[in-house]
Amino acid sequence: MLNDNLSSQANYDQMVVSRIEKNLDKVMPFTAVISFLSAILVYFSELPFLFCILDFSIGLLFLAVSVFPTKISINFKISLIIFASSLVGILSYMHGGFTSAFLILVMIGNIIAVLFLHRKISLFISSCSVLVFAFLGIYSNFYHKGTHFEISPSVFAIQFIVFILYLVLLHVSVYSIRGYLLENISKLELSIDNATKLAYYDQLTGLPNVYKFKDELPKYIEQSTNSGYLIFFNLKNLSLINSIYDEKTGDHVLCEIANIFNKIKADTDLLARISGNEFAFWSPCTSEEILHEKLTYITKYTQEHLIIYNMNKKIEFYISYANLSSCNLNIQDCYQRASTALTYAKTNDLQGFTSYDEKLNQLLRQQENIKDHIKPALKTREFVVYYQNKVNAHTQEVIGVEALARWKSAALGFISPATFIPIIERNNMSIIFGEYIIEQTLSDYTHLCNKFNNSVTLSINISPSHLISRDFVKFLNASIDKYSIPANSIIIEITEDIMIQGIQSVMPILKELNKINVEVALDDFGTGYSSLNYLTQLDINELKIDKTFIDQIETNEKVGIMLEHIINLSTQYGLRVIVEGVETKAQCDYIMSLGCNLIQGYYFSIPGPL
Ligand code: C2E
Ligand code: CA
Ligand code: CA
Repeated sequence: MLNDNLSSQANYDQMVVSRIEKNLDKVMPFTAVISFLSAILVYFSELPFLFCILDFSIGLLFLAVSVFPTKISINFKISLIIFASSLVGILSYMHGGFTSAFLILVMIGNIIAVLFLHRKISLFISSCSVLVFAFLGIYSNFYHKGTHFEISPSVFAIQFIVFILYLVLLHVSVYSIRGYLLENISKLELSIDNATKLAYYDQLTGLPNVYKFKDELPKYIEQSTNSGYLIFFNLKNLSLINSIYDEKTGDHVLCEIANIFNKIKADTDLLARISGNEFAFWSPCTSEEILHEKLTYITKYTQEHLIIYNMNKKIEFYISYANLSSCNLNIQDCYQRASTALTYAKTNDLQGFTSYDEKLNQLLRQQENIKDHIKPALKTREFVVYYQNKVNAHTQEVIGVEALARWKSAALGFISPATFIPIIERNNMSIIFGEYIIEQTLSDYTHLCNKFNNSVTLSINISPSHLISRDFVKFLNASIDKYSIPANSIIIEITEDIMIQGIQSVMPILKELNKINVEVALDDFGTGYSSLNYLTQLDINELKIDKTFIDQIETNEKVGIMLEHIINLSTQYGLRVIVEGVETKAQCDYIMSLGCNLIQGYYFSIPGPL
């Protein structure tokens, strides 16, 4: 606080001083001219020649100051004025007596000193004025008795007291006004500072925000002679981190990323946090190759240095960029392109760096085309359901099937679910699509029982937004009744993404499903944050270990150990574990040796029509 006050006092002084200096510089040439004119007038008057020389010398000094205003300090300029007025005052005294111009000029000198000079200097000048005043009074009385210089002791005493009172009043009033102004200025500066911080800086990370970024961008672009790249970093799964751990962890991750980015960015880079999980960079790289090197370094460095206690997955980014030169140097266009590329990277879950180019534009148009064909395809029943067996490898018995959607579009040809499912989810069609699949699958149930056995289970994949929709359980229950299916034969497969909705909104739905005897499986375990902790809070019956996990078991010993651990722990939690994507006998044997017999994969069966 004290430091703040001192710095605002310094700022205020600086502000006042520079204002005065400007005005003084304007006034100096006129003062010089007036002094020369006055010297000429005095020369032709009856006044002593000394006055003429004095005026002329002062005129010369002022002229010199006017010619070199920047070379002479403000203190010297003010001292010069005080010196000139005091000299004129003393000479006036010598010529005109004690009540002459002296008093007025010394008073003016003191006003200037108190207003514009440092407190100590102005106090020194005032004290000197009092001493000179006293000296002149005594001098007049003792040495000029009977001349017109003589002053009566009582008049002198009154003048002396009035002069001292005047100086005290001057100092007190000027300094109290100055203090008041200072206080206001500090408050004003503080609120301006806070307002600026709120408006232009991100409160959590302290980085510039999107407004500041857009404000500063033209300057940085100019410095980099108009060539460079606009880059967006989007932190994957921030909402998942918030749900699985807590918001504090999410905030901590963001702050750590901001610190690391800030540390490794070049001076010519502009960095900002432009939204919740998005960071933007302006980087004046000269080629795409250099840019890729830089982005690889930033990602690797961040992943290696960001260690969050308890999080067993490295953080990941969607990264997009656009080249300013390919946008005809239009910043707005460049921003738009980088952000379109980011949307594309996010919606297609792309690894690496996504740049805006013609190919991306084409892909976007393709996706738009697919989207437009989905609703008509549901009406014409182009979507069909294939089934893949889930097998007990020990008994070779099919214990259940998973329903997997297939689309052979009359207009577009075969489209993979990996392509159309995200488009459905993005375009809010999960509910009508999900209901279509549920209806289709449940109507197949009797045929499935005939094909396998009556205790076969039916797994259906459900998108997060469908699961948390209001009528999901009601619709499912009604369909189960409609086809007279034992509810405990149905398994709803959800992914960890469901946690984006927040554990509190997911929990009651899973409880409801549990109440109507429908089971729940957590799909793709091992691809996300794979924290077993939150599983204990959810009503989950089955854990499906993802293929990516299995792919590594033969090459990475640690994965095998981890898998064994997960299988043991899940069994203790009362969860059934199924390993997905098993393609070879070796993989199957390995998994069985870890104590898990339930397997789904091409090794036993590929998805096919009923
Ligand atoms: P998922 O639920 O994890 O389904 C398993 C995927 O792995 C299926 O891909 C399946 O064909 C494939 N797969 C199974 N065993 C093997 C194997 O041994 N090797 C290999 N390489 N792949 C194997 P598919 O059918 O292409 O489905 C992809 C994803 O699309 C599914 O992943 C699921 O998330 C989604 N999906 C499919 N049908 C539906 C649906 O009706 N509704 C929803 N919401 N999502 C669906
Ligand atoms: Ca699945
Ligand atoms: Ca899966």
